[in-house]
Amino acid sequence: MDVAANLDRVRSNIVQACQKNGRNPDEITIIGVTKYVTIERTKETINAGIKNLGENRLDGFLEKYNAITDKAAWHFIGTLQSRKVKEVIDKVDAIHSLDRLSLAKEINKRAEQPVDCFIQVNVSGEETKHGLHPDKVLAFIKDVERFENVRITGLMTMAPHVEDEDQLRSIFRELASLRSMVKGENLLHAPCEHLSMGMSNDYQIAVEEGATHIRIGSKLVGS
Ligand SMILES: *Cc1c(COP(=O)(O)O)cnc(C)c1O
Repeated sequence: MDVAANLDRVRSNIVQACQKNGRNPDEITIIGVTKYVTIERTKETINAGIKNLGENRLDGFLEKYNAITDKAAWHFIGTLQSRKVKEVIDKVDAIHSLDRLSLAKEINKRAEQPVDCFIQVNVSGEETKHGLHPDKVLAFIKDVERFENVRITGLMTMAPHVEDEDQLRSIFRELASLRSMVKGENLLHAPCEHLSMGMSNDYQIAVEEGATHIRIGSKLVGS
């Protein structure tokens, strides 16, 4: 399928999900995850109208970033080693995988201005998943306050690859309620307005539960 046709389907699913809970589809940023595809297909993605792209690995990111001159916003969505921060920091619009103090410290050191970071939260508790335990998020946010170049724009999670809608919904709901709690603290460095959640398998449910950034690879860009 071409990306444009996939995008039509994704958009109409988003509209439907928004209708269920009275949201405005314009609140939702679609991040096209290009990790499985070529530079050519990434260009097709931008031409189809997707201006936010996501990569989870440094090599794949740099390869595409360097080859593509069309204007796009890049989201780093994968595990980031501290020593690699300097290679991405002036190229990405947001980092979705902040999960430890050493990484925050390095981002702070290498960035020349505040960088939008999502804190990755391991809501499902799967051992294979990265991210902070939900109980640790607020203390972590208070700890990073001293890093003036780290701005907590929101929270991110990855749900397990399951079909059980209730299970997915409860994970997204927990992230949303964590976000409300953090927002309620009114911290200048952590407006925490955004929720990066939902992938090919579960983005409609994520939108119903308040996602502002959905990260879609296989069902949009391709696999
Ligand atoms: C690969 C990936 C996605 C997209 O996965 P699909 O299931 O192909 O949509 C989203 N988020 C992260 C962090 C990923 O690594």
